[in-house]
Amino acid sequence: MKDYYDILGVPRNATKEDVKKAYRKLAHQCHPDKKGGDEKRFKEINEAYQILSNDDKRSQYDRFGSSGGSGQEGAGFGGFDFGNFGFDQMDVGDIFETVFGRGGGGKRRGRDISIDIEIPFAEAIFGTERRVLIRKRALCDECKGTGAEKGSTLSTCVTCHGAGTLRDTRKSLFGTFTKMVECGSCGGKGKVPEKKCRACHGETIVIKSEEAHIIVPSGIEDGEVIRISGKGEAAPSADSGDLYVKVHVLPHATFKRIRHDLVMRLDIPLSTALVGSSEDIETLDGKIKIKIPQGVADGEVLKVAGKGIMRDDGGRGDLLIEVKISMPKKITTALKALIEELKREGF
Ligand SMILES: [Zn+2]
Ligand SMILES: [Zn+2]
Repeated sequence: MKDYYDILGVPRNATKEDVKKAYRKLAHQCHPDKKGGDEKRFKEINEAYQILSNDDKRSQYDRFGSSGGSGQEGAGFGGFDFGNFGFDQMDVGDIFETVFGRGGGGKRRGRDISIDIEIPFAEAIFGTERRVLIRKRALCDECKGTGAEKGSTLSTCVTCHGAGTLRDTRKSLFGTFTKMVECGSCGGKGKVPEKKCRACHGETIVIKSEEAHIIVPSGIEDGEVIRISGKGEAAPSADSGDLYVKVHVLPHATFKRIRHDLVMRLDIPLSTALVGSSEDIETLDGKIKIKIPQGVADGEVLKVAGKGIMRDDGGRGDLLIEVKISMPKKITTALKALIEELKREGF
């Protein structure tokens, strides 16, 4: 489990002021916008500060090693030490989950699947979609997941006598608990087919290739993972697992991405730098005209607002054009005479 005091580097008796000071210092060091910043550590520091700066959350964390709720890592039941546990703090739902395990009757959810996809740079900027065939355990088409042969009649399940549920009684520290759980033989339906489906042998599940439709949101970053709920493997009368898609963004010949900005380099001759000009630039949105100011310096960055990457707030980052001035390689005699003339003009 995470030690929030360790994360902020403060003693367990640190005052609110100490916590705040430590947080400010660390957050400043690790800010992901900064060179050498560390996003993961930054998040951790923020999480720790959220808990330790709040009196209620901090005292709860001190007592139980958890801030409760919020689904954070370490905030689950598993981290508690029963020896120190204040029973009155626990609600009945939690006790049930502890005794019987999450999800109750031991039914297995389908497995999660992870895949990788590669997309071109421009598609990552504007968003795209992919259809991918995945070979996996899926619901049987033949019986539509009923497990019954076509036209077969249903008979009462002998395990649960048609109730669809079974009693599950467990003894625990807190006494004896009884819970009704789904009957595994009939999958909670109370009835079983007289004749099993030939395709899946009544298992309701077969191995087959199924198409997954992946919607890649605009502005996705290299290495980001998209989760598609319920598109993992199917399991008999249980929820399917999830599909995790890791997106690899291919590099672009011209553009680089820095957060929400696109960065490119533009080579211009010395003469253009001296007098300025207007240039056609190929962007990911098509051709645009930009003005190169007279006297532009080598390495100067020209900004085209709103031609960068989609942000979550609906806006877009900028296109940043770094100007590189190419110096003439050879100076002819005629050119030299011209330059001498320029010199006299005070250039
Ligand atoms: Zn079937
Ligand atoms: Zn049954």
